[in-house]
Amino acid sequence: MAMTSTFSKRAAGQRLTQFVIEDAMRLRQRANEGAFVVWIGVAVPAELFAGFDNVVYAVPESHAALCAAKGVGAQQAEKAERLGYSTDLCSYARIDLGTAFDGGNGSPIFGLPRPDLLVSDNNNCALLCKWFDVHHREWGVPHVVLDVPFCYERQQPADTAYIAAQLRDLVDTVAQLSGQRFEIDRVREAVKHSCAALQLWKQFLDLARDRPAGISAFDSFVQMAPIVSARGSERLVAHLQRLVEETRQQIARGEFPVADERYRLLWDGIAPWPQLRKMFGRLAAQGANVISASYTYCIGSLEGEIALFAYHGEEPIDYLARLQNATVCPQGMALRIAAMRRAISHYDVDGVIFASNRSCKVYSLMQIDQMRRIREAVPIPCVMIDVDHADARKYAEEAVFSRLEAFLESIDDARA
Ligand code: SF4
Repeated sequence: MAMTSTFSKRAAGQRLTQFVIEDAMRLRQRANEGAFVVWIGVAVPAELFAGFDNVVYAVPESHAALCAAKGVGAQQAEKAERLGYSTDLCSYARIDLGTAFDGGNGSPIFGLPRPDLLVSDNNNCALLCKWFDVHHREWGVPHVVLDVPFCYERQQPADTAYIAAQLRDLVDTVAQLSGQRFEIDRVREAVKHSCAALQLWKQFLDLARDRPAGISAFDSFVQMAPIVSARGSERLVAHLQRLVEETRQQIARGEFPVADERYRLLWDGIAPWPQLRKMFGRLAAQGANVISASYTYCIGSLEGEIALFAYHGEEPIDYLARLQNATVCPQGMALRIAAMRRAISHYDVDGVIFASNRSCKVYSLMQIDQMRRIREAVPIPCVMIDVDHADARKYAEEAVFSRLEAFLESIDDARA
């Protein structure tokens, strides 16, 4: 079988763009027609809003990532910096604040429709709550903060109950502010769709287990967008179903992201949105493929796991509360290491890139210790590089690649 290299899954890539544009247009149109608009942190369970007739949600972090991926992140961030926001703040926050203060100008989708309610959570980071507070003060919009306990071990039942109680309060708040009725059965349906979608997501990620890997993590980074914008919807399930089928067909035809794959790498950190294509290309030229990432394998998995935490018909709010720990940020060192060790083994990885990111301290703070412990425990070659998830000004390509090249040599040395 002849093997070829591809980055862009052409049909899937085009459909993804269409999906993102249609979602943005649908959101804008429904907001214009009077829907109640909620801005949420990415981990806030959006399925809850499906319980109302006419509530829509937007995710500023996702919008900031889109700006960064489209090359306008720095320009939007500068608008906030000119108003005094420090360049040390999260670049997503600076992009969002800069865009909002400039009325959506410069954004690929003209920004987000003004919110009626802001909902942040502190399981990703406290900065998110302060960031949403700026909008709360500027626009006089109510702001609900969900308090999610940090976890050094699996979530305790008392913590699940504590989070679930806050989610029920959130439902009451939305009902009161929007004047709309809430139906839990509609949330149940949305949770079923989310679970079906995440099952397909795990299947997609598992296409990296082949040799050569059938996907790159750079594919999975971009394909995360609909999981954020269309949670709980049937169209998300259909999109991921086609993505998995098409990728399987590509593999059957002998098309791989890096056909002459010599290094199978794991990425720890947020996607480097402004550098995706170029970084993929330079690594691929050396036979290296980043086949897995903590940023993508944590989706739908509980603490320290990479397998799906499936929905089995339990009370949907309890399930959504339990899933609040399904991102890397609220997890302590031991859980992060446990999940990474599983991923290293499951995807048969040769080395780990720790992408230290000064503007996301919560993801980066533990990385030095985590890298040391992974090296000791597995053992496996590791490298730490400096990136920023959305601010291209903070990335020094040649310095990063000299480290990456030395890292690939260290993998060769480890094999010798
Ligand atoms: S600092 Fe990190 S976790 Fe917090 S909003 Fe920014 S990217 Fe997300």
